[in-house]
Amino acid sequence: MNKQTTHPLKNDFFSKKITNWYLQNKRDLPWRNTQNPYYIWLSEIILQQTRVAQGMPYYYKFVEAFPTVQDLANADENEVLRLWQGLGYYSRARNLHKTAKMVVEDYNGVFPEKYSELLKLKGIGTYTAAAIASFAFGEKVAVLDGNVYRVLSRVFGETTDISGKDAKKVFTQLAESVLPASDSATHNQAIMEFGAMHCTPASPDCMFCTLAMECVANATGQVSLLPIKTKKVKVKERFFNYFIIEQNGNFAMRKRLGRDVWEGMYDFYLKEIEENIQDLSYLAMEDTFLSELIKNSLIKRESSIYIHILTHQRIQTKFWHLEVDNHFLLHLPQELEWYNLNEVDDLPKSTLVNNYLKEYVFE
Ligand code: SF4
Repeated sequence: MNKQTTHPLKNDFFSKKITNWYLQNKRDLPWRNTQNPYYIWLSEIILQQTRVAQGMPYYYKFVEAFPTVQDLANADENEVLRLWQGLGYYSRARNLHKTAKMVVEDYNGVFPEKYSELLKLKGIGTYTAAAIASFAFGEKVAVLDGNVYRVLSRVFGETTDISGKDAKKVFTQLAESVLPASDSATHNQAIMEFGAMHCTPASPDCMFCTLAMECVANATGQVSLLPIKTKKVKVKERFFNYFIIEQNGNFAMRKRLGRDVWEGMYDFYLKEIEENIQDLSYLAMEDTFLSELIKNSLIKRESSIYIHILTHQRIQTKFWHLEVDNHFLLHLPQELEWYNLNEVDDLPKSTLVNNYLKEYVFE
C-alpha cells in the first residue's frame, strides 16, 4: 500500500531506531546469548503462547535434562511431557520430541541452516523457522509474531485485519521491506522486544517512544484501534466428570489417546457429557463398568466444580473420588491401569488433574 512505500521510516530508519532502542533496553535472556540452533529452537517453542517469566524455568529444565538434540530425541515421551507439565499446549511438547528425532534421524543430529529446510521439520512453522534461520545462522529473513504484527500495524498504519486471510502476506511483505541489509538477527530481536516491552497491546508508552514522531497510529489517534482483529476465538463449553478410582492405595489411570486436549498425558476414568449434570445415577446410565464401580465403592470425596480455561475451550470438571472395596475384584476397562502413589506422581498429567491431586491426594 502507498503509505508503506512513502513512509519516512523506510530506508533503514525504522531498523536503526528500533535497534538502538533494543540495545539500550533489552532484557538479558539466556537464549539471546547463544547461536546454538537447538537452544534457540527450544526457547521459541517454549515461548509460544507463554510469557517469558513462565517459560524461563522450563527452558532451564529442558537444557539441563536434555543438553543436546540427541538427548531429547532419545528421551521417553512421558519424560518429555512430565517436564512440560504445567506449561499447557501439550502438542508443542510432543512435536518438540518428534522434531528432535527427525533432526537426529534425517539430518544426522545437525539442524538445517536454511529457512526453507527448517520449514520441513514437524512443528516448525514460518515464525520458528525464521527465528532459527535468523538468530542462529544470520539468514536475512523476517520474523512475524504477534508483537511484530502490532508494531508494524501501528507504526506504518497498516489496517489489514490480522485475523484475515491476507494478513500473513501483507505483513510479511511489510516486515521484509524494513529488514536492514545486515544483522537482521538483531533487527528481528529488536522489533519483537519492542512489541513485548514498549508498544504493548493495552498500554503502549507513546509519550516516551523513539518512534513517536513517525508512528502513523500515534499521529492519527489510532493506537488503541490497531492492529485490527475482527475474528474472535470461539470457545466451546465442555463438562467433565472424572472418577478417581482408588483400591488398596493404588489408582486407576490411563494415557489420553486420540486428537483431543492433553493427548499423551495421564488422567482418570472420564465421563464427558453435553450438559452440566452432576448426578451419579445419570452418569452411570448405560455404563456397566461405572454402575459396578459405584455399587462397590465408597464416595471418598465429591469435589466442587473446577473450571479450566484453554484458548478454545472452557472445561467444567467434577472429580468423584471413589474408594473400591478391598475385596472386590474390579475389572478395569482396557485403557486403565493401576499405579501406586509414587508412580502417579511421576506420570505426566494436565494442570487440571495435577491441581486436584495436589490438593487432596498428595496433601
Ligand atoms: S508511538 Fe505508541 S503506538 Fe507508536 S510505536 Fe510508539 S508506543 Fe507504539
